[in-house]
Amino acid sequence: MMCGRKEGIEKDHVEYRKIQKNPKAVFICSLCMARTFHEAKEGQKPHKPM
Ligand SMILES: [Zn+2]
Repeated sequence: MMCGRKEGIEKDHVEYRKIQKNPKAVFICSLCMARTFHEAKEGQKPHKPM
């Protein structure tokens, strides 16, 4: 569900060099990263019984 954006990678981004070496490498932008992190956190929560 990543947006697949590769524009806007800052040169000091951790993934930048990886992308340069391997353009097919999956880059997750900070926005998707935050979303994925949030969703993972939400997924770990046990469902509250009503
Ligand atoms: Zn993204």
